[in-house]
Amino acid sequence: MDRVIVIGGGAAGMSAASRIRRLNEHVRITVFERTPLVSHAPCGIPYYIEGLFDDYSLFMTYTPQFFMEKRNIEVKTGVTVEEIETKDRKIYVNSNDKKEVEEYDYLVYATGAKPAMPKFPVNGEVFLIHHPADAEEIREKLWSTRKVIIVGGGIVGVEMAEALTKKGKEVALLHRGKWILNKVIDQDMAEEVQEEMKRVGVDLHLGEEVIEVNAEKVLTKSGEYKADAVILGVGVKPNVQLLRDSVRIGETGAVWTDQTMRTSDEYIYAVGDAAESINIVTGKRDWEPFAPVANKMGYVAGSNIAGYPMKFPGVVGTIITKFNETFIGKTGAFIGTGVKIKGRTRARYYPGGTDIYVKLYVDEGSKRITGGQIVGKEEVLGRVNTIASLILKGGTVEDLFFSELGYLPAISQVWDPLIVAARQFLRG
Ligand SMILES: Cc1cc2nc3c(=O)[nH]c(=O)nc-3n(C[C@H](O)[C@H](O)[C@H](O)COP(=O)(O)OP(=O)(O)OC[C@H]3O[C@@H](n4cnc5c(N)ncnc54)[C@H](O)[C@@H]3O)c2cc1C
Repeated sequence: MDRVIVIGGGAAGMSAASRIRRLNEHVRITVFERTPLVSHAPCGIPYYIEGLFDDYSLFMTYTPQFFMEKRNIEVKTGVTVEEIETKDRKIYVNSNDKKEVEEYDYLVYATGAKPAMPKFPVNGEVFLIHHPADAEEIREKLWSTRKVIIVGGGIVGVEMAEALTKKGKEVALLHRGKWILNKVIDQDMAEEVQEEMKRVGVDLHLGEEVIEVNAEKVLTKSGEYKADAVILGVGVKPNVQLLRDSVRIGETGAVWTDQTMRTSDEYIYAVGDAAESINIVTGKRDWEPFAPVANKMGYVAGSNIAGYPMKFPGVVGTIITKFNETFIGKTGAFIGTGVKIKGRTRARYYPGGTDIYVKLYVDEGSKRITGGQIVGKEEVLGRVNTIASLILKGGTVEDLFFSELGYLPAISQVWDPLIVAARQFLRG
């Protein structure tokens, strides 16, 4: 193996490139990235727009120079790969309107996802919150507005609603679903989040069917909304364009991969938001476009390309987001019986405790935990992660009950809300 080419310099692509270099000092590795940014963090865009940080370079964990100087990885930014010729193992790139051809022994396809476009017409300038390379311009424009409409109440919509209300903007959020984050949590869990959104003045419209979006106006089946800017956040799709006709596309719409992250072409690996894998709970193909998954897929593909066999076990589907101080986490699939409990985050006597809601899903036959949802103001992440780890290992509700979770009055309860939720399933 003489040459590896990586398409896409995000989390997945740079993880793969770095892993290959760690295991093989000699191979030539080249990353092609369309924008000026590599190892970037789209997750930070809402916080940048909120104004929590101003230094744009913080979007990058490491710069292209770092990869070139410290890791001997060629990084070509501002270069778009336009075509992959799998038969001859060549790619065609466009660099400053100059077309070039490059050859590879192995290719890592890490082109990420792209914003989904809705079926209704979209006219004029609307904002898509997707790539950090666009964040500076979007921030400048949004900061100059007074009122913003957000179409879509998924993760990006909710995080942008926080960012803009904190920035003092009037925000209307139009969501087709009956409740916010309806692809993440159940309605009874979402109500807590909705309360918080309304409390800080988000003009929330649920069950709102949009029929047309314009730069300053949104038409829905029930009315017309006006604003200075419109953000469209109706989901994302895997970016499979360059491989659509040459490798197997999976049932989720992302590039099909085996557990080594190899595609149906033995010389091409697909990683990150462009790739699908298997859901550990359902056993079905699944697409989880989130950063920790992208990094690990890149790591696994890199190991295999470098000759160190490694398997990606699949995904459980862990998500965490927030609106102001309310954190919303989920993991797994919601199969079987779901039981919700309300707990507290600190000992009775310790000041500052808040309510926390835990909903645990268990397959009643096997007693295996299939999923969990948590909404609260403290220690949501740690609890979601506990459930996620158990699910990965096929843990039962008894395993959770006997998990020896730490206790400190200032940050937990001696009967942790997770243990209380598990206990509901042990009743004889
Ligand atoms: C607003 C927002 C908030 C998010 N928040 C979270 C969060 O809190 N937690 C979480 O886990 N995940 C979050 N995510 C998702 C997370 O950012 C992605 O899962 C992660 O970035 C995927 O990494 P990737 O390398 O697969 O793709 P990307 O980060 O999308 O990188 C792909 C790269 O490929 C480049 N590229 C594409 N096509 C070409 C081409 N033809 N030629 C050259 N280069 C190309 C693109 O420019 C891009 O830089 C968020 C995403 C967004 C948009």
